[in-house]
Amino acid sequence: MSFMGLNLLTIAYLLGSISFILGLKMLSSPATARKGNLLAAAGMGIAILATIFLYRDNETGEPLGNYGWIFGGLLIGTVAGTLAAKKVKMTAMPEMVSLFNGMGGACAALISLVEFSHISGSIQRSGIHEGHGGTVLIILLGLLIGSISFSGSMLAWGKLNGKVKDYSFAGQNVLNLLMLALALVATVWLVIHPESSYLIYVVLLLSLIYGIMFVLPIGGADMPVVISLLNSFTGVAAACGGFLYDNKVMLTGGILVGAAGTLLTILMCKAMNRSLKNVLIGSFGATASGAAATSAQGHYKEISLSDAATVMAYANKVMIVPGYGLAVAQAQHTCHELEKILTEKGVDVAYAIHPVAGRMPGHMNVLLAEADVAYDKLQEMEDANEGFKNTDVVLVLGANDVVNPAAKTDPASPIFGMPILDVELAKTVIVNKRSMKPGYAGIENGLFFQPKTSMLFGDAKKVLQDLCSEIKNI
Ligand code: NDP
Repeated sequence: MSFMGLNLLTIAYLLGSISFILGLKMLSSPATARKGNLLAAAGMGIAILATIFLYRDNETGEPLGNYGWIFGGLLIGTVAGTLAAKKVKMTAMPEMVSLFNGMGGACAALISLVEFSHISGSIQRSGIHEGHGGTVLIILLGLLIGSISFSGSMLAWGKLNGKVKDYSFAGQNVLNLLMLALALVATVWLVIHPESSYLIYVVLLLSLIYGIMFVLPIGGADMPVVISLLNSFTGVAAACGGFLYDNKVMLTGGILVGAAGTLLTILMCKAMNRSLKNVLIGSFGATASGAAATSAQGHYKEISLSDAATVMAYANKVMIVPGYGLAVAQAQHTCHELEKILTEKGVDVAYAIHPVAGRMPGHMNVLLAEADVAYDKLQEMEDANEGFKNTDVVLVLGANDVVNPAAKTDPASPIFGMPILDVELAKTVIVNKRSMKPGYAGIENGLFFQPKTSMLFGDAKKVLQDLCSEIKNI
């Protein structure tokens, strides 16, 4: 089918690709992110429907067929995806993103398995082994990368919901590298000898185990880097599918995800002051926590709600440091309310955003945008660290690892080297959390025991509600 001489399927793919690029661009600002997401989803919808109804085989001119399977799959996926997205709590979003990313990797791996069986079938029928190298290479790369992404993302999912603990053993890196090397050797062998079809299962198995083994020891501050890396793997695996089917929109989508994931990985590494090699083989944040990091550090003092309210109401400048606990408490709206009440009292209020606060890249930005906090109130780590020395009160809301000074002072700490928010530079620090329990990295925080720091215990939402009513009455 054509329109003004152009193939309608090509036009649909072009529209899909344009929507992905525009959508991605719009995702870079909280003000346009929601629309960007919808635009890209609409583009994907167009591309899927166009493939189903407009695709024709180059040689036979046959349409796609298999409509029962296609629409059955679409229905199951749509129902499962819609229910999962509706049901998911904001705090479980990172896990869901990991799970969905794993599904993308699994799709790419399944495509490779199916296509390889087609190729090996045709080799067996014709007896001609040559001339398949390029296609087999793309198939195997899709299988290798897709499987690693699938099993790695499943493990990251388990780690993010706390069901799987970091685990490492002596020689793990050597074993991992050996497995990867074996998978690559099997891949090369299959490209040269596609008739050795049993080797595809060796590649599949080794890649699945490698995905698990490489994520297993990584923990603490390195999880965000791994999550974005797995994201880019899924993109590259999908792009292999695009090459395989000569499908432009799949190729564009895959390349965009791969490139965006790679850029995010680089940015995350930079933010964490780590090289990618260190993240992958250094098992930063595993079980190496030193005695100094875990030992009790003396006494802490508490502050009453009314004292905390008074200190903040009479401050010139208050900096709020949001962390994972704010998302758990779903206290973003109440937090915005506090910001407005303080601003009405003439206090200068801003938010200090650590790049890995929460459980997914950009978690705090998304959370605060949901509560309509003005974007210009959010300060990135470098700017916030500059500003703390002129800050009267820092209010830490459910953040822990991202304000832990052990990252700067204790080489034995599993988060040593991670840049943190230097909240102790401010005149007073008030920390709200429910107990003295550690955060994600599982280590004690010396900040809580410093003379400048006062603990304000309780669920963030309740504490913020009470602070709002106290400050209103001052
Ligand atoms: P942390 O996990 O270090 O600390 C969160 C704190 O919130 C806990 O100590 C907890 O203490 C408190 N908390 C929990 N629920 C509530 C509540 N209802 N009200 C008040 N406080 C609460 O969070 P951070 O944001 O400081 O650091 C993020 C960590 O997660 C880093 O280690 C990072 O590397 C890691 N990570 C980040 C990812 C990302 O992409 N951003 C991905 C994966 C991991 P208590 O129980 O006492 O209340």
